[in-house]
Amino acid sequence: MLVLGAGFGGLELGTMLAGELGDEVEVTLVDRNDSFAFGYSKLDMMFRGASLDSVQLPYSHAARSGVTLLREEILSIDPGSRTVTTDAGTHQGDAMVIALGADYDLDATPGLDEFGNEFYSFSGAREAAGPIAEFNSGHAVIGVCGAPFKCPPAPSECSLMLSDELTRRGVRDQCEITLTMPLDTPVPPSPETSAALMDEFEARGITFRGGLRPARLEPDRVIYQDGTELPFDLFLGVPRHRAPQVVIESGITEDGYVPVDFATLKTRVDGVYAIGDVATAGVPKAGVFAEGAARVVAGHLIAQVRGGEAPGPYEGKGSCYIEFGEDRIARVDIDFLSGPERTGVFNAPSIALRDEKTEFGASREARWFGR
Ligand SMILES: Cc1cc2nc3c(=O)[nH]c(=O)nc-3n(C[C@H](O)[C@H](O)[C@H](O)COP(=O)(O)OP(=O)(O)OC[C@H]3O[C@@H](n4cnc5c(N)ncnc54)[C@H](O)[C@@H]3O)c2cc1C
Repeated sequence: MLVLGAGFGGLELGTMLAGELGDEVEVTLVDRNDSFAFGYSKLDMMFRGASLDSVQLPYSHAARSGVTLLREEILSIDPGSRTVTTDAGTHQGDAMVIALGADYDLDATPGLDEFGNEFYSFSGAREAAGPIAEFNSGHAVIGVCGAPFKCPPAPSECSLMLSDELTRRGVRDQCEITLTMPLDTPVPPSPETSAALMDEFEARGITFRGGLRPARLEPDRVIYQDGTELPFDLFLGVPRHRAPQVVIESGITEDGYVPVDFATLKTRVDGVYAIGDVATAGVPKAGVFAEGAARVVAGHLIAQVRGGEAPGPYEGKGSCYIEFGEDRIARVDIDFLSGPERTGVFNAPSIALRDEKTEFGASREARWFGR
């Protein structure tokens, strides 16, 4: 079995297959990196002084019987024959799971790279920490350049954490913060969460402007597609997302991502599944959903080997933790596919929920990396 990508989805899949099937099947997990890190660590790097080294979990610790982890760059994918070509050779599987996540298209927003700071990649988050530390007065714009984008609450978290940071340094009164998004509300699937965030923004003097997509950045201003212009001294950007080029070139995408059957995560090609951010699966782009999808696919693959019953449909459920500032964390419990309507139940921010978020990360570290 061939698993492409050892992120949230690939790691969970590899762990489940190894746990259930051991050496009964050969699982090959291919990733170009030598380590994994949680997406939310980017905020810790920007606002809590975390170093890249301190948040990386080396794949060498994820080694387990039955799974071969290859550090290789995937150069092409042939879904029909379930074969990939990498910078080190060719690999073929009876089943193939595409879990390559979403990439960023910086060129889609001219000027973003030059005049702004994208904070959605690890290198971008590390670089953004400098301008954030030096920002003492003027206008900070947190701008989302396209939708869909990973972890919908993250730009709101960034705005609140920036406000906290400026307050800590005693310069908040000299700074203005505006958050802009193509979406009309901060977290559309959960009106309760959006309302709580809007209250928090109001209390801290953060301006939220929905329905805005940046067309381009100039040295000191962002120009939106509808002609709106906002001057900035600091621009923290969420770049437009797209599937990795290698996935697009494989011919399996539609409207930018890999369409799958929401219940089974099967693509239209026999024996090929897609999970996580690379797929259009009826759920937001977040690690918890990649992980849930991986469990369903693992169930199908295990049933194929063992001849047992296939798992029930993917329910699209997951809980996301949201930094609300002042060290408090809120939680939204999303259920997109199991009932007649999508729901997003909000749990108010508290210090106690911080322990739960810590436990969320620690439990994955223990499960995937044996820590
Ligand atoms: C600021 C921020 C905060 C976030 N907070 C949260 C949160 O609190 N909770 C949450 O659930 N999610 C959060 N997320 C989102 C989460 O990080 C992603 O949704 C999740 O990682 C997606 O999992 P995935 O398995 O689909 O892809 P990924 O985890 O991105 O894994 C894809 C893997 O594929 C590999 N790859 C890609 N192309 C190639 C290639 N050509 N060759 C070889 N390997 C390749 C990559 O190296 C990577 O390891 C956050 C994201 C950001 C940016």
